[in-house]
Amino acid sequence: MVVILLGAPGVGKGTQAVRLADSNGAVHVSTGDLLRAARREGTELGRKAQSYMDAGELVPDDLILGLVREHLAGLPEGADILFDGFPRTIAQAQGLDTVLSDSGFGVGMVVLFEAPDEVLVKRLAGRRSCPECGSVYNVHFDPPAEEGICDRCGAKLVHRADDSPETVQRRLEVYKEQTAPLIEHYEGHDAEMVRIDADRSFDAVYEEFRQAVVGARA
Ligand code: AMP
Repeated sequence: MVVILLGAPGVGKGTQAVRLADSNGAVHVSTGDLLRAARREGTELGRKAQSYMDAGELVPDDLILGLVREHLAGLPEGADILFDGFPRTIAQAQGLDTVLSDSGFGVGMVVLFEAPDEVLVKRLAGRRSCPECGSVYNVHFDPPAEEGICDRCGAKLVHRADDSPETVQRRLEVYKEQTAPLIEHYEGHDAEMVRIDADRSFDAVYEEFRQAVVGARA
């Protein structure tokens, strides 16, 4: 099944996706992680994406759709997929439908994670990310066992440049302007839509998220 995780930056959808993918074998596809990997590797896409990412703006739809198409082609056929941070515009959602229908699939479920802006800002300020495996921690609420080191793969954690307060404000505006319209878009779509209150403990959110996805596959 293809599941889309929708929600503002900092709402915790990436952390939830990593946990669920670890437990049920689904593939976690984060366009943010793929772009950061492209930047580290110095590819043409990475160079093109850099200025948009650093400013908290969206990378153009054609670059993102090309990236997703290429990544999906490398996955096992019929894999369960958790899309995190994609789609982010209506054009990306339409492009995804086209890519999936080419291989006989569709979006099965959309999970919308919701939390107030002040919670998102606080979480992003304390967020530490693993540049290698995509795991996400928070120095206040969910620290790694050893300070600054990823529990999962041992890499050194970073505070992403785009998690700085000024860029965070812009990313939240961009979410409201360009990504939030996807909520209405998916309400009129065949996919089931589930809303989760993400302003709770990680475990409480995870339990609801896991049950929604596992229940839909049963
Ligand atoms: P994220 O890790 O999902 O917060 O993404 C970090 C940054 O990568 C975003 O602020 C955008 O600049 C870029 N990005 C990630 N995913 C997308 C997407 N689907 N469409 C456009 N830009 C994206």
